[in-house]
Amino acid sequence: MTYLFLRQEETDMIDIHNRLSQPFAACINNEWIYSPICFDVTNPATGETITTVPNLGIAETEQAIEAAATAFESWSITTPKERSKILHKWFLLITEHTEAIAHTMTLEQGKPIAEARGEVSYGASFVEWFAEEAKRSYGETIPSPAAGKRLFTIKQPIGVVAAITPWNFPVAMVTRKLAPAIAAGCTVVLKPAAETPLCALLLMELAIAAGLPKGVLNIITSTAAAAVGKVLTTHPSVKKVSFTGSTEVGKLLMEQSASTLKKLSLELGGNAPLIVFDDADIAVAVSATMASKFRNAGQTCVCANRIYVQTGIYYPYIEVLKAAVEKLVTGNGLLTDTSIGPLINREAKDKVIAFIKDAENKGAKIIAGIPDTEADSLYIHPTIITNCTPEMDLSKEEIFGPLLAVYIFDKEEDVIALANDTPYGLAAYFFTENVRRCYRVMEQLDYGMIGINEGIISHAEAPFGGMKQSGFGKEGSRYGLEEYLATKYVCLNTTEYKN
Ligand code: NAP
Repeated sequence: MTYLFLRQEETDMIDIHNRLSQPFAACINNEWIYSPICFDVTNPATGETITTVPNLGIAETEQAIEAAATAFESWSITTPKERSKILHKWFLLITEHTEAIAHTMTLEQGKPIAEARGEVSYGASFVEWFAEEAKRSYGETIPSPAAGKRLFTIKQPIGVVAAITPWNFPVAMVTRKLAPAIAAGCTVVLKPAAETPLCALLLMELAIAAGLPKGVLNIITSTAAAAVGKVLTTHPSVKKVSFTGSTEVGKLLMEQSASTLKKLSLELGGNAPLIVFDDADIAVAVSATMASKFRNAGQTCVCANRIYVQTGIYYPYIEVLKAAVEKLVTGNGLLTDTSIGPLINREAKDKVIAFIKDAENKGAKIIAGIPDTEADSLYIHPTIITNCTPEMDLSKEEIFGPLLAVYIFDKEEDVIALANDTPYGLAAYFFTENVRRCYRVMEQLDYGMIGINEGIISHAEAPFGGMKQSGFGKEGSRYGLEEYLATKYVCLNTTEYKN
């Protein structure tokens, strides 16, 4: 096995600079797949090509599924402890190579380097967590209603998993699926987003270095998402599809998976409300709003999308918020003082600009940030827009940009109705110092995850996932492993019949 970027005698940063000057390869059966047909991976901060990766299609996807199916025969019967050891080594290698991976992430995705380092650590935490959980796939013994019968369940890996991931978290969205699948004893074919395949390929190399046997993890890089997705969702050897991305594509994959009735996990879009009640601590609310809204330039599925502020606290909250927003620095993520990187592509920027124009036409007011709507660059300066109403497009869809939409409300019951008035149900946040209100509001919000006086809620130890059209299935936590296991029920007759 030749390593593509690991050079133990050199520093990480030297490795990665050398590495990025060469084409990358996809990986099937632990073999690097090069192709004369490649696509460019570009840096959204500069528009420059970073490197190229193979543009694979239907034939290679089928080959990867077959490799995974063959590997499943032996990987599924390894002991949890064997799998745990490899995952633990993978975790250590990812952690050791944080700088190289974070640098690559900032280049291909655009987020500030400090956030990229944070994501590597967060992404690695899933590998560490599931290295431990691998050993805890307990079945149960069930008290029998019938004399002589013994009832119990065992948990077994479900089979070959197809994982499809988005560009906004090129490491964490990948490890959140791969780590539990591999821990459970499944094998995987991963299709990372076309904008950000490099981090996934670096993770692949580290997985091989950690001792992952051939065929357990295979990566298909491609711009033919629909064609590759069709194979992954219809091939009879694939038993489970785990998808993170838009609700629109999630629904399509569910439809396609129906023909072979695959188990599904769908982590889809959100439209998170963030509610600031009159009795909130303003400093806590503002700092959490900033963290929730502006991480990754507002391009996260759990970003606060609609900020509802109660009348009594509205002006003091807005004043502190405006001061905080005006301190943010937009720029290339590799510069250390950058807090807001570029958006991922032109389409994403155009969408945010359209939200601003639509809202202004319907009576909203920009109170901070002057969006550079005409420039060629992919930057949008952090912008606060007030006087927002439910009729505006930004109230109905994910903004996915550094645009903070503020609404004013009077009564608790009204804001709960407004917050729930969306087909999405991923994350919601609210701020109050009243413990009775904490329970009351939390129980009425139709969301899979709730932050109370907190804007950052994701942890490997906690169940991540949505309700309604934000999808189903949990990632992370002890529930994360279950998604990749089949429960087999056994009824054993222990009666001795005597003649
Ligand atoms: P997307 O367009 O749905 O793409 C996600 C992945 O699906 C990419 O790998 C994409 O490939 C692939 N894809 C696109 N069309 C496909 C098809 N017809 N068949 C199979 N695969 C297909 O979403 P995105 O714009 O990359 O990501 C942003 C979305 O993800 C947002 O809605 C966000 O809320 C959501 N998200 C959700 C979570 C969560 O945990 N709930 C976390 C992060 C992001 P290409 O890249 O080649 O197009």
